[in-house]
Amino acid sequence: MTAGKAKLLFATTNKGKLRELRALVGDSVEVVSLADLPPVPEPEEDGETFEANAVKKALEYARATGLPALADDSGLCVDALDGRPGVLSARYAPGDDKARYEKLLVELAGVPEAKRGASFRCALALVWPDGRTHVEEGRCEGRIGHEARGTHGFGYDPVFMFPDSGRSMAELTPEEKSAVSHRGAAFRKMKSRLLELGKGN
Ligand code: IMP
Repeated sequence: MTAGKAKLLFATTNKGKLRELRALVGDSVEVVSLADLPPVPEPEEDGETFEANAVKKALEYARATGLPALADDSGLCVDALDGRPGVLSARYAPGDDKARYEKLLVELAGVPEAKRGASFRCALALVWPDGRTHVEEGRCEGRIGHEARGTHGFGYDPVFMFPDSGRSMAELTPEEKSAVSHRGAAFRKMKSRLLELGKGN
């Protein structure tokens, strides 16, 4: 640990997200994750929007640890389903990721190509222990395919298609995904704010 370096808590245990954030901020800020701290009770994600959940999570962890905290909440919004599964993406069906994307494919059976639009969305909240809050949102537009394709990624990636490429999100490498994803977009928008932390602001 470097003496005097600003510390930021990223409220995640996901190693992929942590790697992505560390690559973004470089050496300017020391990023710690929930795995590096004594256990803190996990806030319930019961908000009606991605932003509400991200802010709630970051605020609770900032207050509990005394560190500026970054938290994200994300999910898939499908046009033909009035934005579902939305904030319920992780709990849309019991079982695993496959059970959840298969439920989507069944619900969209017979829905024509032009009406299969969807977007991945990510809200990223940076909250200081005194309650100061900054939020950024990233989006990734695509459509729901007719079958699962690809083996990379997680969640709904195998059924999320990029209209002009014919490839699903699960057919992209992690680097390709980060360049086009909702989370990558939100991270990049937050970058200057995170670098300010390293300057003591
Ligand atoms: P969380 O915000 O990381 O908890 O993600 C909530 C849920 O949204 C996940 O369990 C996935 O079902 C879905 N989701 C979020 N981001 C992605 C993504 O990049 N690809 C596929 N599914 C995602």
